[in-house]
This record gives sequence, C-alpha cells and structure tokens, in this order.
Amino acid sequence: MQVLIAQQCGFCFGVERAIDLAEQLLAAGKRVYCLGSLIHNEQAVARLESAGLKVVEEVSEVPTADNGEVPTVLIRSHGCHPKVLEAVKERGLQLADATCVLVKRLQKLVSQCSEEGYQVVVIGDPDHPEVRAAQGYGKGVMVVANEADLAQLPQTGKLAVMSQTTHGAADFGRLVGLIAAKGYTEIKVVNTICRETSRRQEAAVELANEVDVMFVLGGRQSANTRELAELCRRQGMETYHLQDWGEFKPQYVEGTKIAGVTAGASTPRWIIEQFVDGLRAI
Ligand code: SF4
Repeated sequence: MQVLIAQQCGFCFGVERAIDLAEQLLAAGKRVYCLGSLIHNEQAVARLESAGLKVVEEVSEVPTADNGEVPTVLIRSHGCHPKVLEAVKERGLQLADATCVLVKRLQKLVSQCSEEGYQVVVIGDPDHPEVRAAQGYGKGVMVVANEADLAQLPQTGKLAVMSQTTHGAADFGRLVGLIAAKGYTEIKVVNTICRETSRRQEAAVELANEVDVMFVLGGRQSANTRELAELCRRQGMETYHLQDWGEFKPQYVEGTKIAGVTAGASTPRWIIEQFVDGLRAI
C-alpha cells in the first residue's frame, strides 16, 4: 500500500522542549513531579515515568524535601494558573517551567488586556488545561467554545478576543465575525493561534485531498490531534484517529490504495514511523 506522510506532523518545538527538560532533570538525578500529564501522549509519558518522572495533579501532592534534596515541580507546555506558581514558591520547591513561549504570550496578553480594562474572551475549550491556566491571568476571563456561548458575553463594553493556541484558525475567524456582528464599539482581536498548529492543519488538509483514507495519530486528550482529525473529516475523507499501530485494524484500509498519515504536536516520531512501517508492509 502506498503511504504518504504529511509535510508537517509530530512533535512541535514546545513539546520537544518540555520533554528535553524532563529528560535533563531526570538524567541529573532530580526528583521530578509533573503537574498533570507532561504531554497528551500516553506512550511518551510512560517512557518518562519509567525513567522516574512522577505525575501529580496538585502541588500539595509533592512531598517535601527529603535528605536535603528539594523536589522539582515541572510545569508542562500548557502552562499553569498563577496560584500554582505561588504554591510552589510557598512550599520552597524547585520550579522547572516548560510553559511554551506561545502559551506564555497568551497569558501575558490576557493579563495586559485585563489590566487595560478589556473584557477578555478566549476562544477555545473551557476544559483544556491551557485555557483554564490562561483564565487565571486576568479578571473574569470568559471562554467561548461555540456559537451558543456568545450569549454569555456582555452586551456593551470593550472586548479583547484571543484564542487557545491550538484552536482552528477558520473557527476562530468565524466566531470573531459573529462577535463583531454584535455591535461592540471596541473589539481588540489578537491572533494567539500557534503557527506550528496551523501548519500541521494545512498539511493535513492538503494530504487528505490526495489519499483514500487518513490516519491521524495522537493521544485521545490531545486537542490539536482531535482538531486534525476533524479537519480531515470535514474534507469528506474517511479518517481514523488512532493512538498507535496497536489500534490499527485491517478493515480500515480495505479497498484503498493510498493512505495518508499525520500526527498531533505531541506524537513522538517513533509512533509515526512504527505506524507507517506497519501500513507499508500491507
Ligand atoms: S502546539 Fe504550539 S503552542 Fe502548543 S506547545 Fe506546541 S509550539 Fe507551543
């Protein structure tokens, strides 16, 4: 079977940096506690856990200094609520911050616009850790996930609208257009969409138009992977979102000649290679 791989797919620089940092700390013999899963990929996290990484949900779960060794709290690329940073400081723990620079930019913009008196609106998933963390940087930050959520916005005042870094550009534009139609006197729109994400989306759409079936590899919790799969489906393409080769079933490629493969920003290269090798062997 012919297998084509998207021009841009797999690890982004933010995820790569987070993994490198975790590996360096573990290699240096540090006791590292990551707040939440380091990336949305079970296999990559399992590898780090076998090297000693511990995953906790709250700073309170991190044990205090033992034999003079202070544990390190690792902040993942999605960033964290400012209260988390305060808690790390208060408890005298070491901080290793792998917040992606683009997520930091979003947090900074939320803070600046909020201080300037804007009602900050973030377009994205209210349950995503990046969005929940960003909300902590401003006052009363509102999250809009879809058209129905627009009803919660204030009727008047000045709005600053930005986006979860991994949100689709087309949907961001659509929702901004609907907000503009509401007639606010001032709307400040800041494009906080990550180019790494949009490049992967453009490459996936391009590929989906050349193949008979698309495979999108990545964790089920990975927002950017889900978005890639959704985009391919919107092209009318039969699309399977799988975590790895272990989830593949031969009937997925029955009657097809060319398969396309792409992967989310938190999918390691070895998962992509293993999958492509498996498909090519059919
Ligand atoms: S997808 Fe973009 S914003 Fe998210 S970690 Fe990667 S580079 Fe950073």
